Amino acid sequence: MKIDVLTLFPEMFTPVTEESMLGRAVDKGILDIGLTDIRDYSRDKHNKADDYPFGGGGGMVMMPDPLFGALQSVDAKAKKVIYMSPRGKILDEEKIRELAQMNSFVIICGHYEGVDQRVLDYWDAEEISIGDYVLTGGELPAMVLIDSVARLIPGVLGNEDSALNESVYSGLLEYPQYTQPREYEGLEVPEVLLSGNHQKIALWKLEQSLRLTKERRPELYEEFISHRNDKNEDGTKRFSKAERAVIDKVAEEA
Ligand code: SAM
Repeated sequence: MKIDVLTLFPEMFTPVTEESMLGRAVDKGILDIGLTDIRDYSRDKHNKADDYPFGGGGGMVMMPDPLFGALQSVDAKAKKVIYMSPRGKILDEEKIRELAQMNSFVIICGHYEGVDQRVLDYWDAEEISIGDYVLTGGELPAMVLIDSVARLIPGVLGNEDSALNESVYSGLLEYPQYTQPREYEGLEVPEVLLSGNHQKIALWKLEQSLRLTKERRPELYEEFISHRNDKNEDGTKRFSKAERAVIDKVAEEA
């Protein structure tokens, strides 16, 4: 997958894109992150990329010309263009899955008061927000988007199952996790996880996930419960008898 990022601060990305899972995905050639400095496309002798807004109002707005140049340089008319923006629809699992299917897309990182609207209109940019709060620039939101999409690309995570079990992706929040040592400062790991009984462990995890989701994210829980009778694509039941018993038990709890 090729992700082109247009930014005034390309150096902000390297600590994230060169380290850890993303760094390994780039090294393996699974992910290619192209960083374009918008200022390189400014035709102003001082490399100016922003100016005062027409109609007044505080702050500065990113000018269309450097952004048009940067977008042309990455062949953005042939690609999906995303603008990180607090005005956008909030990033969720569905959007991340959709983007993870693509071969390429372009991200515009705004700064100051944002970008000239003509850029968004001409390049048909989809605005995506990472939450109902305002950051100083689109770089951190872009990194959130890249990280969340990249981990769904086959080969990026060591263990593909871990993405599927994770909170939200499975439709439920993840169960509590424990590692060595078995006992720490008098705090013990739940006995069932040491039992070696895979079925019992799986049912325990399901029960914990159901309880956590019911308590913390009732809307996700309701969605899950409303689909509990759905069948798999091949017509078989989605849940085993034992799983169904756990689901029903948690549903009956106050
Ligand atoms: N004046 C803009 C508004 O009220 O919508 C906010 C501009 S913000 C200070 C500067 C840039 O940060 C934006 O252009 C955008 O790229 C990015 N940004 C800020 N908050 C964001 C969020 N919640 N999600 C995505 N991008 C955000």
